[in-house]
Amino acid sequence: MASVPHLTRRQGLAAAASWFGLFDVNRRAQAHSEVFAVEAARLRDAAVAAGDQPYGAVVVLDGRIIGSGRSRVITDRNPDAHAERIAVWDAQRQMGREDLSGAVIVATSIPCAVCQRALSRAGISSMRVGPEGRDHGAPRGANP
Ligand SMILES: [Zn+2]
Repeated sequence: MASVPHLTRRQGLAAAASWFGLFDVNRRAQAHSEVFAVEAARLRDAAVAAGDQPYGAVVVLDGRIIGSGRSRVITDRNPDAHAERIAVWDAQRQMGREDLSGAVIVATSIPCAVCQRALSRAGISSMRVGPEGRDHGAPRGANP
């Protein structure tokens, strides 16, 4: 087994434990994102099965889904019925309030400009995108 010459095995293990401690919070957030990304993908697949556009999204607060949506643009003949905005409307209805501060959106694709404005207005501060729920930063609001 190869070893780092200037560290004893014990020092090496301590260094590894410290490194994992430092990144533990990020790793947990990433693991959660992947679980929610699976649900967003399920919604996207449901949209496709219904003959709609391939988009799905969930709104997550405190580790649980508070709103979900799939594209309904074609099925509802509504050009505003993007998955992300439907997920926000669903979350607002379920929470009984417009303010979703602290929530994160997990979406199958990068939300469009109009959706990002709606996300920002609802107080959503972070977007996670794609199958791995990669961090895509804050949605861009009307007044950056
Ligand atoms: Zn959109």
